[in-house]
Amino acid sequence: MRAVTWQGIEDVRVEDVTDPVIEEPTDAVVEITSTAICGSDLHLYRPLAPFMQAGDVLGHEPMGRVVAVGDDVHQIAVGDRVVVPFNISCGACYMCDRTLFAQCETTQVREHGKGASLFGYTKLYGHVPGAQAELLRVPQAHFGPIKVPDGPPDERFLFLSDVLPTAWQAVAHADVPADGALAVIGLGPIGQMACRIARRQGIEHVFGVDFVPERLAMAERHGAEVVDATATDDVGEALRALTGGRGPDGVIDAVGMEAHGAPVAGAMQRAAGLLPKAIGEPLSKRAGIDRLTALRTAIDAVRRGGTLSVVGVYGGAVDPLPMLDLFDKGVQIRMGQAHVKRWTPEILPLLERDDDVLGLDDFVTHTMPLAEAPAAYAMFQAKRDGAIKIVLQP
Ligand code: NAD
Ligand code: ZN
Ligand code: ZN
Repeated sequence: MRAVTWQGIEDVRVEDVTDPVIEEPTDAVVEITSTAICGSDLHLYRPLAPFMQAGDVLGHEPMGRVVAVGDDVHQIAVGDRVVVPFNISCGACYMCDRTLFAQCETTQVREHGKGASLFGYTKLYGHVPGAQAELLRVPQAHFGPIKVPDGPPDERFLFLSDVLPTAWQAVAHADVPADGALAVIGLGPIGQMACRIARRQGIEHVFGVDFVPERLAMAERHGAEVVDATATDDVGEALRALTGGRGPDGVIDAVGMEAHGAPVAGAMQRAAGLLPKAIGEPLSKRAGIDRLTALRTAIDAVRRGGTLSVVGVYGGAVDPLPMLDLFDKGVQIRMGQAHVKRWTPEILPLLERDDDVLGLDDFVTHTMPLAEAPAAYAMFQAKRDGAIKIVLQP
């Protein structure tokens, strides 16, 4: 089959790889119809390169048709239309019992001290072949895949795999009361949906911050009040000015390790990425590889006693944080990978309605054949041609 493979820094290629088959009785194989590129894939494209191996298959936001199931898989059957969550969880361990699916103890990668295995996300997360491919082997399929109805186009359901539950969890973690204010730093796909979900849940003031005109415009179309970070050199101050001087009750960092405006950390990331694996990998694990601009903005902006919801991915171990500010302001911080299936019961009914309440018809900016993945990655990374969310079709 054809699949998007990582070959080196900013080098992905569509190649022939071996077709996946059922290996365990709890597996399924899904023929992929749509598979999106995520901001998290951009981290693999460059800064997390030390953890990649040439030939790794990328991708973790898929949906398609079930073509095979193992003997222990009964919740889905051949022919079903399914969305596959990005984290692989068993549904029955200590963590899964507590709906902490991103920490599943059955698929945890203990060798690297990490949580649940993820599709297409380096050896740190289980080295599981990813979903930007014609076929996907789905481990733990007796629990994971989400059955969706026939009819509406893929774009309606595809984002149950990652974007929607991630954004939903980010809003839940931010814990903003209905008459309060939420700021969302970063208006990529995750930030966009966090804004929409917060508005949908009735949060009165939702502020979206970014630099990119079409991303600001999209957020504004869906009810966010936007702050253009190119128009101010102090986003924290701008957000305080909009909230009676106090700052928003909750702030979501939907940017992560590749924030703009951090030249030194940017150079560190490039250096670690270019070093031989033996040096680059420990350097990336132990050193401060993250660009913390967005996180610092969030810490500065959040009101005293407020909540910081960090959904952007970070990877370093000794990144310096303003501990004095965090402590003095009494900030609560909640973060982590999304526990995808925890949120399905709340999100799926919204998607099944006729009136597209989350505006999924105005989200995907580019749909491209899988074969064009190299161009799609380059476009998404550079935010060229208005790219906000790109879907690949095998
Ligand atoms: P994206 O790269 O498209 O979005 C990031 C946005 O942040 C861009 O629009 C960019 O212009 C903006 N930005 C960069 N620096 C900024 C700054 N200093 N201030 C304000 N805005 C800034 O990616 P995405 O797909 O929306 O993902 C966002 C983050 O969420 C990534 O780090 C991704 O890895 C992470 N993520 C986490 C989970 C999870 O489970 N926790 C799941 C999916 C994605
Ligand atoms: Zn993703
Ligand atoms: Zn589990």
